[in-house]
Amino acid sequence: MTDTTESIESFRARARAWLADNMPRLADAARLSGDDPAHWERARELQRKLHAGGFAGICFPEEYGGLGLPYAYQQAFSEEAEGYEMPIVLNIPSFSICCATLLDVGSEEQKREHIGAAIRGEEVLCQFLSEPSGGSDLAGLITRAERDGENWVINGAKIWSTFAYGADYGLCLARTDPEKPKHDGLTMFLMPTRAPGLTMNRIRMSDGTDEFCEEFFDNVVLGPEHVVGRVNDGWTVASRQLYHERTAVGGGSIYTSGYGQPPTRSRPDIVDLVRRAGRAADPDVRRTVGEAIVMSTVHEQLVERVSAGIEGGHLPPAAASVPRLFHAEETEAHADALVRAAGASAAVASAGNAFEDVGLHYLCRQAGSLGGGSSEMARNLISERLLGMPREQAADRGIPFNQIKRGTR
Ligand SMILES: Cc1cc2nc3c(=O)[nH]c(=O)nc-3n(C[C@H](O)[C@H](O)[C@H](O)COP(=O)(O)OP(=O)(O)OC[C@H]3O[C@@H](n4cnc5c(N)ncnc54)[C@H](O)[C@@H]3O)c2cc1C
Repeated sequence: MTDTTESIESFRARARAWLADNMPRLADAARLSGDDPAHWERARELQRKLHAGGFAGICFPEEYGGLGLPYAYQQAFSEEAEGYEMPIVLNIPSFSICCATLLDVGSEEQKREHIGAAIRGEEVLCQFLSEPSGGSDLAGLITRAERDGENWVINGAKIWSTFAYGADYGLCLARTDPEKPKHDGLTMFLMPTRAPGLTMNRIRMSDGTDEFCEEFFDNVVLGPEHVVGRVNDGWTVASRQLYHERTAVGGGSIYTSGYGQPPTRSRPDIVDLVRRAGRAADPDVRRTVGEAIVMSTVHEQLVERVSAGIEGGHLPPAAASVPRLFHAEETEAHADALVRAAGASAAVASAGNAFEDVGLHYLCRQAGSLGGGSSEMARNLISERLLGMPREQAADRGIPFNQIKRGTR
């Protein structure tokens, strides 16, 4: 770890001066849509700037290209970076989920090569986990990887891969031994998104965004160096990945830099909206808006408390499911409050309608209860691993995967 003799205040002051001299102001930034390849080029360019300025990968270890500093330094930097254009789109999943997972379970070579490249703005990573047959039952996936000499040949399909079109590699979970019980025969691969045999399509959502992709693997060949962790021990890797995903989605990752969400799904400002709608005096609207704001405040404090608990060892990693679950509730409360405040205008999506964003935002109301594993899964984790309640019944536990009945009644 870096010699942290530089105080947080000195680091903050240095960051403030550097940001003012080097990073573009958010107010001047071109609003690039997710469709636009320039969006990704811009994010990489901004990341390269952060790296050149010595403010990239603040919490990643120095040997892998980071600064090796405690989270308080990252928080100070993120606070100072408000109002500047930041490569927010690289935070989730590339840094906070994929690089964080490689840091925990990747080989020394993978850590040096890929974490370093991501910090320098040269590489972006994404996740190939969910499949068309289901995401909640992740361990029941059917994409298979078969040995061919020392290589692996991968066939199958993945879906809902966020920002995969902008990524260079995907962490891809595949079944390598169908004779083992479902959790035991899996292996994680670091798959190039442009590997021969991989076909990627964008998925356009009802709100017009298309950050999701689906991928089809037709005899994608990967060498042994693409295996992350050990062969048939992919569940260990996936478990770390899911932990980092819950932490990131819940808002508590130490590996994200800067605040805010990618521009494709930014949340309208609720107080501004109520004023514009002329409904600031309506007691019902005031109560709903107040409740939504309270939810946000509680969420922020919950993230801080649970993150500190996990970091200090007072809480198990499974506690990351608590802010993750609350994030979904908070997102839904906000989406509802926005619609209530905007009234009927929220339902009329037409160019020039000042409240169009509210209606579009509402279409993604449920995203928070699915991304990072569904809310029901989060509740299961909290009850089983945090509260010590009995495990959910599973008819397929301990049975070889190829003997489990699927798609039958
Ligand atoms: C914003 C967002 C980003 C995402 N990014 C990625 C990504 O980058 N990469 C990736 O691979 N995937 C990604 N996903 C997919 C996500 O992981 C899945 O949507 C999620 O795991 C749920 O899987 P599913 O959609 O197949 O729903 P299903 O598994 O079909 O579940 C449908 C419903 O049934 C419920 N259910 C299922 N099993 C149980 C049970 N045992 N008990 C109680 N209820 C149950 C679920 O909770 C859910 O409400 C993303 C999703 C979202 C919304």
